[in-house]
Amino acid sequence: MTLVMGMITTHDLWKTYVMGDEEIHALRGLSINIERGEYVAIMGPSGSGKSTLMNLIGCLDTPSRGSYLLNGKEVAAMNDDDLARIRNEEIGFVFQTFNLLPRATALHNVELPLVYAGVSGKDRIERAKAALEKVELTQRASHRPNELSGGQRQRVAIARALVNNPSILLADEPTGNLDSKTGEEIMAVFERLLLATEDAHELYRKYGGFEAIPYPERWMSLLRNPPKQAN
Ligand code: ADP
Ligand code: MG
Repeated sequence: MTLVMGMITTHDLWKTYVMGDEEIHALRGLSINIERGEYVAIMGPSGSGKSTLMNLIGCLDTPSRGSYLLNGKEVAAMNDDDLARIRNEEIGFVFQTFNLLPRATALHNVELPLVYAGVSGKDRIERAKAALEKVELTQRASHRPNELSGGQRQRVAIARALVNNPSILLADEPTGNLDSKTGEEIMAVFERLLLATEDAHELYRKYGGFEAIPYPERWMSLLRNPPKQAN
């Protein structure tokens, strides 16, 4: 049997939260495969386990059972140093509520992951500026979050997620706190970023033109995986 290994592969993934004497199965045996260059939307009603899955994929949390292979490597077998490196270098995370430091400028917010990665000051500023340019916020680099609109705050958060050149960009309801027009603008930013990657050339060949690429490329539903409370 030939096994085509994706970048993100889960097999029979479970996440069970224990609350007192109650068990909540947020994920019940989920098996998914996502290839490099894919643009995937995970859909499902509130409470269906979307955030739980994103946190597992982003190595922010560990599964109760089952396997998660990232680039062919079992995440559960990694040590703390490996995990810290992966979280810092391989994964960019964008949240519904932006999660920016309120007193720091846009530039400083974007610089932060580089501080943790031990990048020197001059390099850091250059890379943070380049990331802000990618989301068209160069003009707002010295503004603090409360001097920015919701859409601009989310673009700062996207720049922060990109500054380490991660191989995976995860966004948990990134338009949830925005009006629909601003939400569309944020989705357009993600699409533009995807098209700027090397893997976009692959998509270009596959569909015969950027305009023909359906966005998101794939929808994944957690509807059939509703969390159940065991009694
Ligand atoms: P979604 O993001 O799709 O709304 P979540 O992944 O946040 O869903 O939650 C899935 C289920 O797990 C829900 O029933 C939720 O209440 C429960 N849950 C999520 N996080 C925790 C937690 N830290 N402790 C206990 N239960 C949790
Ligand atoms: Mg959620």
